[in-house]
Amino acid sequence: MTEKIQAIRGMNDILPAETALWEYFEDTVRGWVRAYGYLGIRTPILERTELFVRSIGAVTDIVEKEMYTFVDELNGESLTLRPEGTASCVRAAIEHNLLYAGPQRLWYRGAMFRHERPQKGRYRQFHQVGVEALGFAGPDIDAEHIVMCARLWRRLGLDGIELELNTLGGTEARARYRARLVKYLERHHDTLDADSKRRLHTNPLRVLDSKSPALQGLIEGAPRLVDDLDEESLRDFEALQVRLRAAGVAFTLNPRLVRGLDYYNGAVYEWVTDRLGAQGTVCAGGRYDELIEQIGGKPAPACGFAMGVERLLALMKTAASAVPGIAPDVYLVHQGEAADRFADQVAERLRDSGIGVLTHCGGGSFKSQMRKADASGARFAVIIGDDEAQAREVSIKPLREAAAQTRVALDEAVDLIRRVCDPRSVIGNQESPSRT
Ligand code: ATP
Ligand code: MG
Repeated sequence: MTEKIQAIRGMNDILPAETALWEYFEDTVRGWVRAYGYLGIRTPILERTELFVRSIGAVTDIVEKEMYTFVDELNGESLTLRPEGTASCVRAAIEHNLLYAGPQRLWYRGAMFRHERPQKGRYRQFHQVGVEALGFAGPDIDAEHIVMCARLWRRLGLDGIELELNTLGGTEARARYRARLVKYLERHHDTLDADSKRRLHTNPLRVLDSKSPALQGLIEGAPRLVDDLDEESLRDFEALQVRLRAAGVAFTLNPRLVRGLDYYNGAVYEWVTDRLGAQGTVCAGGRYDELIEQIGGKPAPACGFAMGVERLLALMKTAASAVPGIAPDVYLVHQGEAADRFADQVAERLRDSGIGVLTHCGGGSFKSQMRKADASGARFAVIIGDDEAQAREVSIKPLREAAAQTRVALDEAVDLIRRVCDPRSVIGNQESPSRT
């Protein structure tokens, strides 16, 4: 036998048994972004490498060791599979002058790629949903983003996600802090690991983001950025906290919170849970007022956040959130030549009314078809023999309750099934319900 070909390590197939949960999540997200007036944007998965180097920062984990970068053999260009969504979103907004029409509330979703060590909650291809507000100075919009996240957790039936908040201040405050931090780290040079030594002079704030257990004591004792903060940042940060308290969103201030990407300034935050082991950050974001200019746009303030879909789905599983099934409403059983032809019409007529129908294919006895109907999870079997076909009627057998089989005219069948099944839950129905 020929050898099997397997998927790439850290890149997962999402199999049919999983898709109900994914689709429920995606439907919920669509209703949620609409509730806040965010418009979708879809950008290519491949970008010029330079875009990420300039935005995320050359001396970050992502750019130094996690990117899938290769040279396009045809023209020698260096290309990278996107490791995150913000850079592409901002690039597209600049390229198409979106900000000329005023500030933009945008959202995206899709696969991201990072060459990390695969483990639970950490993959090489993973998915994010992200939200960006371009051209907004805050702190009102920062509060909107955080309140918005809290609403999504509620809609998904998730609790136990906590908000950690910090501010990185303006450029000058960070420069002052950086100098102080470098002095401190130099005094403890012997304790630093190789990564941190390398970063000491290129990107010392990154040292605070180190996950190495050996460094946690050192990080704990490091000087705090809050002591260097400028008045404006402090004022904005205070105003943000006031808004969050008013909205009833609880948070913890974490002065050690720096983000793994260089473009952040001002308020930054992470949503974390202790229910997922080491990979407990489900969503992260903040302000990035200099990014638009850094990648060639006219200066404009902005902020946003991105969530890890796999981690949120894992959390939904631990919370056993009620996820509607994707079983069909009807399994259509039919036998005989006239019945076959009538069955096709019946199926389309039911679908016209928003009812989900799985039509039996491949023949077989009534008995074996009924077994398949049962296994499909459908609410009803609609049964058509040549008898029914002749009379333009159908027999309906409820499969999930002990009720008798009835024989009715087609229109009556449509009414009866519609009354029981919520047509909005049908796969492929255009309008997805908001479930809260
Ligand atoms: P971490 O500290 O866990 O590496 P990060 O700071 O690198 O996260 P971000 O770049 O802020 O992550 O991405 C936003 C979110 O995307 C994270 O909070 C997480 O939920 C998710 N995420 C990031 N990397 C991965 C990955 N390799 N696999 C699965 N989800 C991920
Ligand atoms: Mg990371």
